[in-house]
Amino acid sequence: MTVTATTPTPATGSTPAGARGDTLVEIDRLTMFFPVRQGILQRRVGWVRAVDDVSFEVRRGETLGLVGESGCGKSTAGRAILQLYRPTSGHVRFEGTELTTASTSELRRMRRNMQIVFQDPYASLNSRLTVAAIVSEPLEIHHIASGRERTRRVNELLELVGLDPSMSSRFPHEFSGGQRQRIGIARAIALNPQFIVCDEPISALDVSIQAQVVNLLQDLQERLGLTYLFIAHDLSVVRHISDRVAVMYLGKIVEITTRQLLYDRPLHPYTMALLSAVPIPDPAVERQRRRMILTGDVPSPVNPPSGCRFHTRCPFAQERCRAEEPPLSEVETGHRVACHFWSEINEAGGTRSLPVMPQTGAAVVASPYQDEDQGEGMTEEEERSLQGAPPLKEALIGGAPISGETGSRDDAGLSESLDVPQKPA
Ligand code: SF4
Repeated sequence: MTVTATTPTPATGSTPAGARGDTLVEIDRLTMFFPVRQGILQRRVGWVRAVDDVSFEVRRGETLGLVGESGCGKSTAGRAILQLYRPTSGHVRFEGTELTTASTSELRRMRRNMQIVFQDPYASLNSRLTVAAIVSEPLEIHHIASGRERTRRVNELLELVGLDPSMSSRFPHEFSGGQRQRIGIARAIALNPQFIVCDEPISALDVSIQAQVVNLLQDLQERLGLTYLFIAHDLSVVRHISDRVAVMYLGKIVEITTRQLLYDRPLHPYTMALLSAVPIPDPAVERQRRRMILTGDVPSPVNPPSGCRFHTRCPFAQERCRAEEPPLSEVETGHRVACHFWSEINEAGGTRSLPVMPQTGAAVVASPYQDEDQGEGMTEEEERSLQGAPPLKEALIGGAPISGETGSRDDAGLSESLDVPQKPA
């Protein structure tokens, strides 16, 4: 069946349905583990606990920033929310509809409302297709418009993202990185989605282009009433674009609150360390502030530290932190933190209470437990295992291939094609 193309939502800044601020996506105890396999028989010898019991909500019309170091699980969380990875356990509800148990056809229908913009604009576009074919692919798969109507819609989308429609017959390699990312965004908004996961959409771009893409995303949000989960490791960008921010460490959310509270009054030691690394473009302020440099690698997600996962790097760690995992608790309105001692640490002055290294002026932040076994990065075997995780490049977004390598247009087998991990014993 062919239906008429829908025009973009008018430039009112209003959301298509429901009230701004109510919950659009609810993530409840989401867990995503990948098996670690070894040997000729590829026996499972462990689990990479990429996302471990994570709960938060994304509100309609907002931008929720999700930040953390590389390997903390933020991209995996974004993909598990969209069901590109089928979660190991937990729930994801979109406007109250459970996604984790949805059938393939239900998921295909839901994908009209949920899209993704990828980090790498070079790998995420099929180099053998023209721009017109790339942008119109979701329309084709969802039987939206055909012939001239589809061409009109593609031109409209290209204009919307700041590209000249006359370029629609060109191939991706003829475009710069920023222009390619615009093509990826045009594809993502082709079906008029409500929710878009922006998975580090600017980190592969030149600094001079980053601001343009961020401004474009903000402009589209205003015009189309979009809701974003904005995944990034650049805290300056997250501060610019986000309404609220969630901080992730080793598969767990450690702090979540409004942008203002997080940047003005971070309560979790890990957030303090992250923020202290952001340069401030004011030499006077920069000279006065106390940097907090974390030592050691992020521990392996295969064998995460007991209790609080940050205790092997936290300068405030105590015996209780090793034994007892801190829950993510609301400590003030709209501010949730996972730390046993957030109150004491902040009463004592946070990073100001730490001794300073004379050579650098930075706070000494070694944990008393930093020499524990888990204080090592991922092994090569574990990294290989992750690379062999669900074949994402074969997964499809709203029918459009994620990778330029695949020509398949059938997303019917999405969930079956993924190596869905079984819940660990
Ligand atoms: Fe974790 Fe303890 Fe440090 Fe809080 S004080 S972040 S609970 S290690």
